[in-house]
Amino acid sequence: MKQYYCPVCGYDELDEPPSNHNICSCCGTHFGYHDVGHSWIELRDTWLLKGAPWFSKSRPAPSAWNALAQLQKLSDLENIRVTAGKETTRVKIDARQPALAA
Ligand SMILES: [Zn+2]
Repeated sequence: MKQYYCPVCGYDELDEPPSNHNICSCCGTHFGYHDVGHSWIELRDTWLLKGAPWFSKSRPAPSAWNALAQLQKLSDLENIRVTAGKETTRVKIDARQPALAA
């Protein structure tokens, strides 16, 4: 089954694309609702400032789940820099552009 990743937190086991009122089990972003009027960067910052908690009550976090490792993977995928703390996220280039060239 094809899986998708969440552009907010980097969770990469979404069963449905991050749109159309799907909800990320990890950060709880409700796509098509939370991301209307808020950028994914803002939503990520909000999630990080809450301590990057696992969201879903019905779907448990994968074993050995690690929010920071997941964010590292996201930053590789999207070529963005993600650091915890204030000003958590800085976009280096268009966040939708996959990081193909080094
Ligand atoms: Zn997410």
